Parts: sequence; structure tokens; C-alpha cells
Amino acid sequence: MTDDTCPHCGSPDTAAILYGLVRPHDDLCQRLATGEVIFGGLVLSDRDPIRRCNQCTQDFAFVTWVRRQLVS
Ligand SMILES: [Zn+2]
Repeated sequence: MTDDTCPHCGSPDTAAILYGLVRPHDDLCQRLATGEVIFGGLVLSDRDPIRRCNQCTQDFAFVTWVRRQLVS
């Protein structure tokens, strides 16, 4: 079992969730079409999942983002 395997149903058919502005390109479009990658949106919360199961649609692999302060 790898980290990409769904902990809820055990399916290896899971997608990476991308956040933020993404410039589509051929490779990304292909990965979107196959369900390998999905978009999570532009707004981040304190804790977001970075993978979603294509079988049971549960999110998993939650991460806590490191906020960087811009110092002028
Ligand atoms: Zn699942």
C-alpha cells in the first residue's frame, strides 16, 4: 500500500488535488481527463487534502500549509 492508496476503501485509483492558479498544458489536461489530477480551488484553509479517491470520493492525505510572511 502506497501513500496514494485510499485509506477509506483501499482503492489505488486516487487523484492528486492541485490548488491555486494552474496554467493548463497538454500533459496536465491529459492527467485531468484520466482523473489523475483534480483542482481543489483557489482558497486554502489551514488544513487541506492533497488526494481524493476516485472510487469513494473521500479526501485524504491532509496537509497543513506553511504560511510565509513577506518581509519588506
Ligand atoms: Zn476510496
